[in-house]
Amino acid sequence: MSVIDTALLQIRQLQPYSPGKPVEELERELGIRDAIKLASNENPLGCSPLVTEALARASEHIELYPDANAYYLKQRLAQKLAIRENQITIGNGSNDVLDLIARSFLDAGGAAIYSQYAFMVYAMVTQACGGQAQVAAAHGACAKQPYGHDLNAMLELVNDDTRLVFIANPNNPTGTWLQQDELKGFIEQIPQHIAIVVDEAYFEYVEMADYPDASSWLEMHPNLIVTRTFSKIYGLAGLRIGYALSSPDLCDLFNRVRQPFNGNALGLAAACAALDDEAFVEQSRRNNQQGLQLMQNWFEKKGFDYIPSSGNFLTVRFGENSADINQALMQRGIIVRPVANYKLPDFLRISVGTQSQLEQLFTNLDEIL
Ligand SMILES: *Cc1c(COP(=O)(O)O)cnc(C)c1O
Repeated sequence: MSVIDTALLQIRQLQPYSPGKPVEELERELGIRDAIKLASNENPLGCSPLVTEALARASEHIELYPDANAYYLKQRLAQKLAIRENQITIGNGSNDVLDLIARSFLDAGGAAIYSQYAFMVYAMVTQACGGQAQVAAAHGACAKQPYGHDLNAMLELVNDDTRLVFIANPNNPTGTWLQQDELKGFIEQIPQHIAIVVDEAYFEYVEMADYPDASSWLEMHPNLIVTRTFSKIYGLAGLRIGYALSSPDLCDLFNRVRQPFNGNALGLAAACAALDDEAFVEQSRRNNQQGLQLMQNWFEKKGFDYIPSSGNFLTVRFGENSADINQALMQRGIIVRPVANYKLPDFLRISVGTQSQLEQLFTNLDEIL
């Protein structure tokens, strides 16, 4: 018997997260420069110049531990979101917050509900805690929100073991979203002793009129947790800052579980500065809308189906040649994201790039196809 055999079974059975390939890695492998990454839903415009300045200042004192209570960031978020500081939990990316939540509620006796095709991290954190997965069948391929969360199917899974429900709105990798009325109705039907996470990683990108801000329901629902991130529209994925909004009591709970310095100094400074640049956020949103439109038009013209998206990516059905097309794009220095690990092998998820990146994508796809 080896030391590996003594490790927890649920850990040995975990599949590691498979991230998008880093640009430098592909450039090194192919001996090229200027590879394009459209694989991890990063902001193609980079980040705000205010962030760059704040980073230069903050980097003068990286010998110091960060503010473990993230005082300034919580103050700025509280102002912006009209919420109290004691309702905010900062994390090392929102993935860290999802992990804190799972560890606060799940053990071998508990179960978490999430949808088929939901963001992979829900399955990972559930399994890492030894919790049971209650996976709800998603909407079908022809539904209005193809492969999206079926809230009725999720509701039907609630039983005595259920401790936690994960909802991504919008969901990654499908881009599907839930409307105000259906999501509100769902939350009202979940028993109060079960925690509900609404993951709003793409919140700032969504422009649908009936898309809800779940944080407006926190007062009414003390079992509700909303998670957001600086990784997406704010362009700070490399600095790892995300957060949860919840009741002060839940926030207090997460504060006990978290590592003391889970928000790093550069990330905290950058996130504060990012909140000061509303113009950059607006510009990012506009680029995204234009890019999504370009992509939809192009794929429609070429006869490819895609899942309608409210995020900063489009998941396109390339059929059985998906893996080959992915490889061919890679050989040409364009990184997109296969989603076979989500059991969607016929699709590739493509992040919205700049107009010039998208034009290169289309040119290369034309040659490949
Ligand atoms: C990208 C993403 C996150 C954010 O991850 P970070 O850890 O904050 O970088 C969370 N949820 C979903 C659904 C995502 O797509």
